[in-house]
Amino acid sequence: MSLMQDYDCVVIGAGVQGSFAAYQLAKQKKKTLLLEQFVLPHTRGSSHGQTRIIRKAYEQDFYTQMMEECYHQWAQLEKDAGVKLYRQTGLLVMGPEHSGDYQLFKNTLQRNKVPTVILTRDNFPQHIPNVILAEGDGALVDVTAGELFADRALKAVQGQFQKLGGVIRDNEKVMEINPGPVVKVTTSGGVYQARSVVITAGPWTNKLLAHTGFQLPLEVVKINVCYWKERAPGTYDVKQRFPCFLVTESVETKEHIYGLPSNEYPGLVKLTPDRHFVLDYHPNYSNIIIGAGFSGHGFKFGPVIGKLLCELCLGEVPSFDLSPFRIRRFQSNTKSAL
Ligand SMILES: Cc1cc2nc3c(=O)[nH]c(=O)nc-3n(C[C@H](O)[C@H](O)[C@H](O)COP(=O)(O)OP(=O)(O)OC[C@H]3O[C@@H](n4cnc5c(N)ncnc54)[C@H](O)[C@@H]3O)c2cc1C
Repeated sequence: MSLMQDYDCVVIGAGVQGSFAAYQLAKQKKKTLLLEQFVLPHTRGSSHGQTRIIRKAYEQDFYTQMMEECYHQWAQLEKDAGVKLYRQTGLLVMGPEHSGDYQLFKNTLQRNKVPTVILTRDNFPQHIPNVILAEGDGALVDVTAGELFADRALKAVQGQFQKLGGVIRDNEKVMEINPGPVVKVTTSGGVYQARSVVITAGPWTNKLLAHTGFQLPLEVVKINVCYWKERAPGTYDVKQRFPCFLVTESVETKEHIYGLPSNEYPGLVKLTPDRHFVLDYHPNYSNIIIGAGFSGHGFKFGPVIGKLLCELCLGEVPSFDLSPFRIRRFQSNTKSAL
């Protein structure tokens, strides 16, 4: 029989969000355990792979504003870990010029004074090679956007967490969570107790929440990500000024289409009904914190999501307004067995 081990905080799931939450907690001198069901690194969650888009181009001010801080924190992590995590490519945003979606992107960028270049049919070829801007389409470039090197970033943040004394136990699947003033967490390899628990389990979130009698309305879907590979060398290359892109809508689909240069494959993501994140206390246990539903766009926010989850864990006032991310917005479609 294994002995119960005590921590200030146990974080379940060593994807990007759990790793940053654990890192932030360790920075606050909390004795923190990060649990992961698979051997690290692994390719079975949502955070693996070579690249993810980083951008400030959003339809909502609150995401653009959170990204301001994320850029600073990504740069700090690059410095602390001594690795390159970001490559600037710009992000081309295109769509029917007078459509609501395209205008939302454009207005949010302009309102928040994000460095942006507006393109016209005349100046488009000077900026973007090998693409023609369709009649009636608008185009702009979010200049500071680019790519994050995902696998490298995960390794870097986990390394910094360990440097601060944080403990990572991989190949340990959480089998049971017993809520209470002190939460008991039973894994395939041990039993732990902590004053608070953060659940950042990606697509497995509802499986874990089932131990607490609660379910979130999460839907598994495939997202429209296009990882292109150049057919003719030197045509669609970042070095040839070809950027990441986002098409707000097209004749094929009303969903946004994202593109970035790499040779990865699209995966599954968990969407919330409104595509916004869940960052909140468990509705029945204030010492269980949930970070979930990153809806295919959460990687770039890792540093700030980690900070917010840490603040919730410590009972501090969150540094951003969390009302778009609260669970109560789903009131009619959450399930509670309690
Ligand atoms: C194809 C694709 C493209 C994307 N593109 C972008 C992009 O360009 N830009 C961007 O910002 N975002 C992008 N995203 C979204 C982003 O990658 C995700 O939002 C983010 O990785 C989610 O991280 P997470 O930590 O919540 O989940 P995950 O990475 O899934 O981590 C959850 C972890 O919890 C562990 N776990 C689960 N259950 C247990 C248990 N019982 N015991 C122990 N451990 C457990 C899992 O093994 C896993 O490691 C993309 C996602 C996909 C799939």
